[in-house]
Amino acid sequence: VASLVNINDHPYCVVNLRDLSQQRAHEKAVQKLAQQDQLTGLPNRVLLIDRLRQAIAVAKRYDRQVALMSLNLDRFKQINNSLGHNVGDALLQQVAGRLSLGVRSSDTVSRLGGDEFVILLPEINSTRDVAMIADKMISHIAHPYLVDNQELAISPSVGICLFPDDGVEPEMLLRNADAALFNAKESGGRCYKFFTPEMNTRASERLALESRLRRAIEKGEFQLHYQPQIDLCTRRIVGLEALMRWQHPTAGTVSPATFEPLLEETGLIVPVGAWVIETACRQRAAWQRSGLLADDCTLAVNISPRQFASHSLVDLLQQSLANNQLAPQMLEVELTEGSLMHDTDATRRMLNELKQLGVRLSVDDFGTGYSSLSYLKLFEIDTLKIDKSFVDKITSDKKDEAISASIVNLAHNLQMLVVAEGVEHEAQLQLLQQMGCDIVQGYYFAKPMPQDQL
Ligand code: C2E
Ligand code: MG
Ligand code: MG
Repeated sequence: VASLVNINDHPYCVVNLRDLSQQRAHEKAVQKLAQQDQLTGLPNRVLLIDRLRQAIAVAKRYDRQVALMSLNLDRFKQINNSLGHNVGDALLQQVAGRLSLGVRSSDTVSRLGGDEFVILLPEINSTRDVAMIADKMISHIAHPYLVDNQELAISPSVGICLFPDDGVEPEMLLRNADAALFNAKESGGRCYKFFTPEMNTRASERLALESRLRRAIEKGEFQLHYQPQIDLCTRRIVGLEALMRWQHPTAGTVSPATFEPLLEETGLIVPVGAWVIETACRQRAAWQRSGLLADDCTLAVNISPRQFASHSLVDLLQQSLANNQLAPQMLEVELTEGSLMHDTDATRRMLNELKQLGVRLSVDDFGTGYSSLSYLKLFEIDTLKIDKSFVDKITSDKKDEAISASIVNLAHNLQMLVVAEGVEHEAQLQLLQQMGCDIVQGYYFAKPMPQDQL
């Protein structure tokens, strides 16, 4: 700011100077923060979209293509839930580092949140190049990591879309890269997929299913069916498994195979699972009062990995048992190997609390999930359930027969019971009996059915 003054008839100029460099640096830092992901230091969504806009403008002028890759880590939630957020964060930082090293300086690697990374490749020559880059990136990211002195393996899935073929606006391109990513995940992960228009139909169908499921919860359209478990020696019903069904207004009875994965992914399984536990306990108590079932007949409920990781599970079980005056050993909790695969404090704590509560623990679909057996040694499991996929060909495939016999032996050597699932024929039953299997469950005896039919 300058001003003229007259002092003793002499003109003077007064100049005020202020050093603004600190303020400017501060403003710059704030701007950077607003465009940067805190955890990894990568550009965030704001900066990504800005650069994507620029890339599109340049590509339009020179009639070129731009590629956008959406990258997620397969089963990252499991790591986060079972090993803790610190480990999850450290892993994300290492992934960010590897991604940045793997691309050219003109490319942008950004993180939008969670394990969602997006990579912008503004200068591509052909889709073949993009495929090669994606391939390289996948094997690079899938190399094991060392976090907190433990080795972690994780693989990425990648969805790719291209300007201008798959969209001309940033939002559209991001959405279509996500649809391709979803498709890559659905086909088992650790792969990349290029966007095709059909993927959008799939994605919108999924969204529709999700909102229908939310409505089904509000309207109480879920139901429990019960399948008997029969003791092979006494041929009496010694247990029941509660299996949920969706009583769809138009489609009729829907099996959880079609919607349980989506409930799990969206977290809706936690409230629905709570309803399952309450309803099953109430029903078991009603049977108890009516004297229709043996007093020691157990009731099994399925618990998904997401439910297993939720803090409310033990309280919920405890309350449902107490409200219905059920002895805890009547309730069996069916866990999957996915819930038990990591020997972490959280897993141990949960299993100890469940044991202390007094409920029985079983491992569902045994042998189909994670191959580590060490959890059998660490945790007090009561029952192993031989998966239907082994039982299916037990009489025709020597390997399935050998696996089933080995599971029976393994369980008995560890003082556990064995339940064989999906028994449909007399021949399967006989073979299982010869092996010494304790309990069977399957259409041969009874399908899952509503309580009045049971
Ligand atoms: P699962 O716990 O392994 O249940 C066994 C599945 O095999 C059930 O399918 C049952 O109906 C079916 N099954 C039993 N015997 C036979 C047989 O002889 N032949 C054939 N073909 N199938 C047989 P369902 O009821 O469709 O359930 C599928 C999966 O959905 C369950 O597998 C379980 O993982 C999940 N699920 C079901 N209910 C619940 C629930 O309340 N909570 C949770 N978290 N998951 C559930
Ligand atoms: Mg089960
Ligand atoms: Mg099973």
